Amino acid sequence: MRKKRVIQLLGRLSAAGAAAVICGGAVWFFRKVQETQSVEVEPTTENVQTEFAEETSRELPENTTSADSETETECLFLINADHPLPEDYTIRTVGLKDGQSVDERCYPDLQVMMDDCRAAGLSPYICSSYRAKDFQERLFDENVESLLAQGFSYEEAYTETTRNIAIPGTSEHESGLAVDIVDISYQLLDNEQENTPAQQWLMENSWRYGFILRYPKDKTDITDFVYEPWHYRYVGKTAAEEIYRENICLEEYIEKYTLP
Ligand SMILES: [Zn+2]
Repeated sequence: MRKKRVIQLLGRLSAAGAAAVICGGAVWFFRKVQETQSVEVEPTTENVQTEFAEETSRELPENTTSADSETETECLFLINADHPLPEDYTIRTVGLKDGQSVDERCYPDLQVMMDDCRAAGLSPYICSSYRAKDFQERLFDENVESLLAQGFSYEEAYTETTRNIAIPGTSEHESGLAVDIVDISYQLLDNEQENTPAQQWLMENSWRYGFILRYPKDKTDITDFVYEPWHYRYVGKTAAEEIYRENICLEEYIEKYTLP
């Protein structure tokens, strides 16, 4: 139920989140490139929360091509509780729909992945993308408060929250290189997400576009994060293919090549 509440919060705050980014400070560069088309697929179940409908544009911005190897290398680094983003980390974003945005370096490959998934007859749906640090702080603090209200001690509430929501400054969403994608027919962030048609396609094919399922079911002891069959991180096609084929997680890949 907590996950459901979080996605609802994300939906409610999406517009506010974009505004907060603009006000967040000089280090954050914003470039709204293009609005997107409306969602074409009609909801088919009562669970569908259409206000969260999301899709990327079908048209690439001008002068934007798939990432070259140098750009892929730039995007290949670890973000977790032990590896926070640098304080001076900067990002140039491309706007999607309804206040969503991503790092412009992963946008072209994300675009193609979403289009190919739709071309396969499926309905992927981006429900979360780039988050400014203050937005991440709100998500984190609200989850702690929710657990405190349920009777957890502060230490328990904090620790439990870190298993589900990254500590502000350590979320991949703050990098703009991660997106949460659900199937439009089932938009809850829970383990059932893995059984949806869009998710099964993404799990099988996202590596072709440079994205990995970042928090796999069988790697939770290494990632120290719950299984998230909706969170995809851009690492570039070369790394994504090896991570997929060897069934390793990003921490294992980074350690293998002693990357930052
Ligand atoms: Zn996520």
